[in-house]
Amino acid sequence: MTKSEELFQRAVKRIPGGVNSPVRAYGSVTEAPRFIQGAVGCKIFDVDGNEYIDYIDSWGPMILGHNNEQIKEAVIRASENGLSFGCATEKEVEMAEFICERIPHVEMIRMVNSGTEAVMSALRVARGYTGKSKIIKFAGCYHGHTDAMLVSAGSGVMTSGVPDSAGVPKGCTQDTMIAVYNDLNSVEQLLVESKDQVAAVIVEPVGANMGVVPPKEGFLQGLRDLCDKHGALLIFDEVITGFRLSFAGAAGYFGITPDLVTYGKIIGAGMPVGAYGGRKEIMEMVAPAGPVYQAGTLSGNPIAMAAGLVQLKILWDDQDIYKRLHQKGELLFDGIRNIFREKNVPYQVNSVSSLGCIFFAKEPVTDYASAKASDTKAFSDYFQYMLNHGVHMAPSQFEAMFLSDAHTETDIQETLQLLQQYFA
Ligand code: PMP
Repeated sequence: MTKSEELFQRAVKRIPGGVNSPVRAYGSVTEAPRFIQGAVGCKIFDVDGNEYIDYIDSWGPMILGHNNEQIKEAVIRASENGLSFGCATEKEVEMAEFICERIPHVEMIRMVNSGTEAVMSALRVARGYTGKSKIIKFAGCYHGHTDAMLVSAGSGVMTSGVPDSAGVPKGCTQDTMIAVYNDLNSVEQLLVESKDQVAAVIVEPVGANMGVVPPKEGFLQGLRDLCDKHGALLIFDEVITGFRLSFAGAAGYFGITPDLVTYGKIIGAGMPVGAYGGRKEIMEMVAPAGPVYQAGTLSGNPIAMAAGLVQLKILWDDQDIYKRLHQKGELLFDGIRNIFREKNVPYQVNSVSSLGCIFFAKEPVTDYASAKASDTKAFSDYFQYMLNHGVHMAPSQFEAMFLSDAHTETDIQETLQLLQQYFA
């Protein structure tokens, strides 16, 4: 028995499913996931001494690679002053200034502790600001596990085949309306039907929780226009895309201005952080400046801020990083496309810059329905093969692969060679 298997046997007795987040479980929930010992750069090591090229990157925040020396140093230094005060600190001001001075659509920002909290809070602000109650989300977009968003959600909800979670009362989701990703008509219809009672349209500007689904040309601009026409706020959930596609996230990458944005783990460089921000007049609704209540004992935690600020400063100072990430994305995902073409493999490769995935689906994947048509058994076989040959990826068809600045051309070529063998 491997050490991972031993740990899993202990884990399932004390932790539901043996994991603290469902996306960590492998396809069969009875199978032990690899328990991780540590990671450096783009390499991750399990407790049995196996080494892998990591394409999970802690689901995005390790954009510089694991265990970055400067970030580690900042964490050690910050921890010498104490771990948490529950009081205002200078680093929080620095963080807010750093982001707001560089991202034009973020005039004010509030730190929270996770992407879930960021979304939950942004929705409350949108409702408080507009005085309306309905929210439009897209099937297959995941916005964390807040009750109102657990409807046609992607990510682990999609993997486990549970369409809506048990324990979510109908009342919590009655104001959530579901549109079809990449289909502006479906959005317009809901806006019209609801007689302009929609507070916000929330969208992953690149779908990354039903596998990767890029927005079609004009889709995000169309959402902007529809929101303006119907008096709804446009919220970009940039938990995955923020500071990744460009410093200003997908908004910067596609040149579309949302009213509110939500960010996540990437701001904390691996520490538990989320944030939401946007136009001043909207954000001034938040307590104690305004009437929309939102709070958090550990929000703006000094260690998390220290880690995150170093990461954001590196990203800002070296913006060539976005070119490099883009090139690495092309090398990997175009490389896979070439293999598929050469070998006549009928599957799809979707990607935007450093995010991408293979869909084991015969038709192009543009939304939730086409993503769900994927052959998850074929994905699972591929996942096992890659894992057993030293490539660590999300164990689900409906997640993204994440590249970091630490992935080298050699790592990517090695991955491509493995794929070449697999699809031979
Ligand atoms: N929004 C999006 C787009 C996400 O991908 C996620 C999780 N990856 C969340 C929200 C929730 O973030 P968290 O897991 O930090 O609560």
